[in-house]
Amino acid sequence: MDFSRIELSDEDRAFLEESRAFLKEVVTEDVLRRDRETGDNFDEGVHLALGRAGYLAREWKPESEGGFNRVRRRIWELEKRRAHVPWVTFGTTAMIARSVAKFGSPELKAEVMPRVYSGEVRLCLGYTEPEGGSDVATCKTRAVRDGDGWVINGSKMFTTGAHNCQYVFLITNTDPEAPKHKSLTMFLVPLDSPGIDIQGIRTVDGDRTNIVYYTDVRVDDKYRLGEVNDGWTVVREPLNAEHGAVEAAADGLQDVAIMMHQANTMAAAVDRAAADLSRPDPSGRRPLDDGSVAYRLGRSVARMEAAFATPNIFGRVALAQTMRDISPDLMDIHGTAASLPLGADGAADDGAAEYVFRFAPLVGIYGGTLEVFRNMIAQYVLGLGKPAYAPPAKKAG
Ligand SMILES: Cc1cc2nc3c(=O)[nH]c(=O)nc-3n(C[C@H](O)[C@H](O)[C@H](O)COP(=O)(O)OP(=O)(O)OC[C@H]3O[C@@H](n4cnc5c(N)ncnc54)[C@H](O)[C@@H]3O)c2cc1C
Repeated sequence: MDFSRIELSDEDRAFLEESRAFLKEVVTEDVLRRDRETGDNFDEGVHLALGRAGYLAREWKPESEGGFNRVRRRIWELEKRRAHVPWVTFGTTAMIARSVAKFGSPELKAEVMPRVYSGEVRLCLGYTEPEGGSDVATCKTRAVRDGDGWVINGSKMFTTGAHNCQYVFLITNTDPEAPKHKSLTMFLVPLDSPGIDIQGIRTVDGDRTNIVYYTDVRVDDKYRLGEVNDGWTVVREPLNAEHGAVEAAADGLQDVAIMMHQANTMAAAVDRAAADLSRPDPSGRRPLDDGSVAYRLGRSVARMEAAFATPNIFGRVALAQTMRDISPDLMDIHGTAASLPLGADGAADDGAAEYVFRFAPLVGIYGGTLEVFRNMIAQYVLGLGKPAYAPPAKKAG
């Protein structure tokens, strides 16, 4: 039975085959091993190869400017996933490049955009600070006017990919006296500027991110995006896109929710469990013949399918929460050897469920925590009003 909604033309089928063959050639076992070791979610050789072959430009540009049409865009996204292309840094680059194209001066666009297409320029997000990330507008990193340019001081936490990027999309505070949404100015800061110190941090799932310190960093005014103290206008759009608050198109050629890419690790672990637990031992007995194993696997599958079918901002919560909830069950039904990680000898399912267990907490933090998302759903979708965190006022007398 064919469940696909789209019939591929001969040209689309040829594109599928060509892109699959290309990715097979560039995303080698070596690339995947190195990516696991570094936790970078980026490979410069692969990225430059994608740039040279024109895939980065076609992915970024709209169809009217030579980009993929809807069907090929979808084919390309799915093929990248199947090939496990290290993907995080192109994700941030593509998102920030939209703000550069919209708010950058002609000079800045000419400096950045052609090299985004070629892969030589990568861009990372500098929102979060050591004292807090959920409310990005409470930014303490200062930018102060100095002649024709600016001097930046402060620090940013979790600037993922900074060590593989050429510029950071930086939120700064340019007016500490103003209300917070009117105090911000955005810059695209060259990461080779003197005064920038990038230090690596490894997360529990093995990913690498960074803390970045800015000490008297001088930036020319041409690197400013948008108006002074109007950074909120610049940052709102990419934030909405990152939060998945943008409605998916109804043509079925798009993920129904963000974080689908991450959630595929859960699908892989569930498939692996179903296969392993259906295999009979020498006496002919299958782990699935145990009713509690069958029940827990079945419940995991049902929860996963429900999460995959949940759209937009609800889906973002459902996917991360389901990863958190079912991974301990999957590990448990595999037995003790499921606590060994990917690549370890004797790991029950090659470490698939254990990886989801370590990855799931992060999926529910970056791009906005699950708590913050639940509040957004309560406030904007269910109309329950703004949460009040202040302690109740004491009654007089
Ligand atoms: C692997 C990883 C990669 C990341 N990459 C980047 C990146 O590239 N660039 C970048 O700028 N940031 C990045 N981040 C940061 C990420 O966006 C923040 O961690 C996230 O927004 C939460 O901010 P915080 O960690 O400062 O927690 P805080 O904001 O300090 O929150 C602490 C706790 O309070 C809860 N909380 C806070 N506010 C509310 C609220 N209004 N309602 C209910 N609960 C609330 C949170 O849910 C959380 O449990 C990354 C984070 C991780 C883990």
